[in-house]
Amino acid sequence: MATAVRTRIAPSPTGDPHVGTAYVALFNYALARQTGGSFVLRIEDTDRQRSTSASEQQILAALSWLGLEWNEGPDVGGAFGPYRQSERTEIYREHVEKLVAKSAAYPCFCTRERLEELRAEQKAAKGRFGYDRLCRSIDSEEAQRRVAAGEEHVIRLAMPTEGETIANDLLRGDIVIANDQVDDQVLLKSDGHPTYHLANVVDDHLMGITHVIRAEEWISSLPKHVRLYRAFGWDLPVFCHLPLLRNADTSKISKRKNPVSLDHYRQAGILPEALLNYLALMGWTMPDERDQFTLSEFVAEFRLEDISLGGPVFDLDKLNWLNGKYLRDLQGEDLLARLHEAVFADAYLEAIIPLVQERIDTLADFVPYAEFFFVGNVRYEETALPKLVAKNHTPPQTAKAFRVLLEEHLDAILEWSAANIEAAMRAFCEAREWNPKELFMPIRVAITGRTATPPLFETMEVLGKARCRWRLRRAMETLRGMKA
Ligand code: GLU
Repeated sequence: MATAVRTRIAPSPTGDPHVGTAYVALFNYALARQTGGSFVLRIEDTDRQRSTSASEQQILAALSWLGLEWNEGPDVGGAFGPYRQSERTEIYREHVEKLVAKSAAYPCFCTRERLEELRAEQKAAKGRFGYDRLCRSIDSEEAQRRVAAGEEHVIRLAMPTEGETIANDLLRGDIVIANDQVDDQVLLKSDGHPTYHLANVVDDHLMGITHVIRAEEWISSLPKHVRLYRAFGWDLPVFCHLPLLRNADTSKISKRKNPVSLDHYRQAGILPEALLNYLALMGWTMPDERDQFTLSEFVAEFRLEDISLGGPVFDLDKLNWLNGKYLRDLQGEDLLARLHEAVFADAYLEAIIPLVQERIDTLADFVPYAEFFFVGNVRYEETALPKLVAKNHTPPQTAKAFRVLLEEHLDAILEWSAANIEAAMRAFCEAREWNPKELFMPIRVAITGRTATPPLFETMEVLGKARCRWRLRRAMETLRGMKA
């Protein structure tokens, strides 16, 4: 009997749920469903500094919203758990010891200073970057003695220095790499935690993953991974690297040019089935070339080996167009339910009410006053538009301030609360010597389109990070289009 297919999505919980995660999850989900196999969700939180459980929860919620249900994962359990890498440290340590015992890996005692010097020398000589394998020549007994004495070290993979590694990608065929071009990758860090490469390979093997379907950006790691499988003496899974989603200018999709957070699409009123359909088109064409199809039709028809490698452009207009088709197909009752859920959810209205109650006289005032809570893009009131430019600053200076504020302060906020938003704005003002008064008005206009609004930070909290981020980006575009 053929082995049952097992696929996985392995997000790192280090930020907002990314559209790329949904894209990769969709193809993994589809293969598992098509073959009657299992789709596993594993949390890759090896980066202890950047991983948060808030981000993990948001990722799980976003994938559930899309309806990409997983059979095993940190929330539902399963026979191959735990499904969070931070709970598997011992497993990685044991595995690395096996590699050291067969000399397929070795302790490296080089200090940070030495590695920095080495890098500087390599840079000056315009040579290849990489570890020079100094510690590989230390006699293994001597190395063990130093480890036992508590000397700080990492464990590195001993790449063969001759020959080549052949790594097969289902869509690209054999990728051949000369072994001496591949670095002796760190597997275990000096704090005893694994790197991505070790944890990922060990888990894919122990969790019985048969198909590793992931983003193209990981293809450069493939030779190291293949080497690791061989060093352990394990069979290789099928590897399939999906083409990267791209911005309209064909650069890798990025939040500077496109909204990448799934929360954005949810709040912008994109229907989950339309988003999945759109993502499926980023690499797959139905045999009859129709654009609109359901998830189950996709699951039935799609063939992993027929994914096309052309860089798919994530085009917001096309997504909106497809969403419109879905929306018009909804039954009245269903549309009503969707509106309730996405636009007029009780929890959202309850958060808005205290911000507007003091400021309206009749119920009929609610809609015009609170309009900016419900629209995708705000309309700048005519009298407000000039105030999008900060007092005593030019439009480009204001746009730059928005960019720095967003990228260096607001994006880093984990818990999107009024207090944290205010602290981030004030931190920006301190760092860049801006007068808070001069900053807050343009931000108010960017976020609401007006000069008179409910308290700014509370308003931003209720609107949510994805909406605020997008409005600031749009404001930057508007500012760039103004005369300096
Ligand atoms: N944690 C990696 C990511 O977030 C997983 C890559 C992989 O699928 O191997 O993209």
